[in-house]
Amino acid sequence: MGKEYGQLRPGYRLLLGPGPVETSPRVLRAMSSNMLGHLDPQFLEFMNETMELLRKVFQTKNQLTLPMSGTGSAGMETALVNLIEPGDKVIICVHGVFGQRMRDIAGRCGAEVISVESPFGRPIEPESVKKAFEKAGKVKLVAVVHAETSTGILQPLTEISQIAKQYGALFVVDAVTSLGGVELKVDEWGIDACYSGTQKALSCPPGLAPVTFNDRAAEVINKRKAKVQSWYLDLSMIQSYWGKERFYHHTAPINMIYGLREALQIVLEEGLEARFARHKQNSEAFIKGIEAMGLSMIAPQGYRLPTLNAVRIPDGVEDVGVRKHLLDKYGIEIGGGLGDFKGKAWRVGLMGESSKRNNVVLLLAALADGMGQQGHNADVGSAIQAALKVYNG
Ligand SMILES: *Cc1c(COP(=O)(O)O)cnc(C)c1O
Repeated sequence: MGKEYGQLRPGYRLLLGPGPVETSPRVLRAMSSNMLGHLDPQFLEFMNETMELLRKVFQTKNQLTLPMSGTGSAGMETALVNLIEPGDKVIICVHGVFGQRMRDIAGRCGAEVISVESPFGRPIEPESVKKAFEKAGKVKLVAVVHAETSTGILQPLTEISQIAKQYGALFVVDAVTSLGGVELKVDEWGIDACYSGTQKALSCPPGLAPVTFNDRAAEVINKRKAKVQSWYLDLSMIQSYWGKERFYHHTAPINMIYGLREALQIVLEEGLEARFARHKQNSEAFIKGIEAMGLSMIAPQGYRLPTLNAVRIPDGVEDVGVRKHLLDKYGIEIGGGLGDFKGKAWRVGLMGESSKRNNVVLLLAALADGMGQQGHNADVGSAIQAALKVYNG
């Protein structure tokens, strides 16, 4: 006789980390709907609707807009493996862990990679991108992370976009932690290729990576000489399944697509502007509370990402102990630091369903308690008052 495994019963958690985040019961219900075949006419209609909804959320008219099967990293890899051929020169902006990941992938595609860097916790300077172009000669693309989840930086995009145009390069943007949480205008901002993930500001479980490519980028893909190094992520074949031909490539993750369709509907029901304003307000309230406790944010003012709030851990406070206290006593998950910020920052995700006033107030209190356990006394009353002032004026 083997071990008895019992029924799967995950305990309750409040997910306030870098993702996955809280998911609407509507999305979970949609995911448990009847299974359909991946070529069933009903399912094909859901696919078309999902593409339409994605275009609205990406604020684009791009025909080539669809969810890739895989998490955000699959979106990153899709953008890079389809656009890069061996020997191409590319500029990768690196100001956090996800920029490093793009650089790694671009290198694996056989690109000659030029890095434009900023220290972790600072945005990329458009001036440095310009200098890199001046030196490099012909560059195929420049890629940058819009919302650096590892540092909480919101990267301004329009200047870099203009520089890319000026030098005839494609502009590729990682919008994994911005899509559905902060303003992102793919067409208006001149973004040629953009990708995201479902478990961040879209508030869906992990498993899909929405991508969008404009005609200019699609043409680059269609004119490739070398085959895409990844069979699974080759858009020239995947387009034929999502397009009119309906050629089988791989089996679509049916239920994930149900879930994404529902999550996108929720985003649009709230309205993009209202949703961005909500994220901004909750982040602002959280930051006011953090500052009232004498703590500070990693990102400088003007570059703070509302969806991911990186807090500097004060001297004398030990990271893991506080996070364990939050998890054990409150069921709250927040993220620890990544890369240069390991042990030095907490990453608080206030995105999608997790971006709520109750969560802000509860987390401020729980953090004060957690730090108090280590003898670091924070004024929780002032923190909550400061946060409430943002809501109540
Ligand atoms: C989370 C994240 C990714 C990777 O997404 P996964 O879903 O973990 O594969 C890529 N870029 C950014 C900016 C992210 O925040």
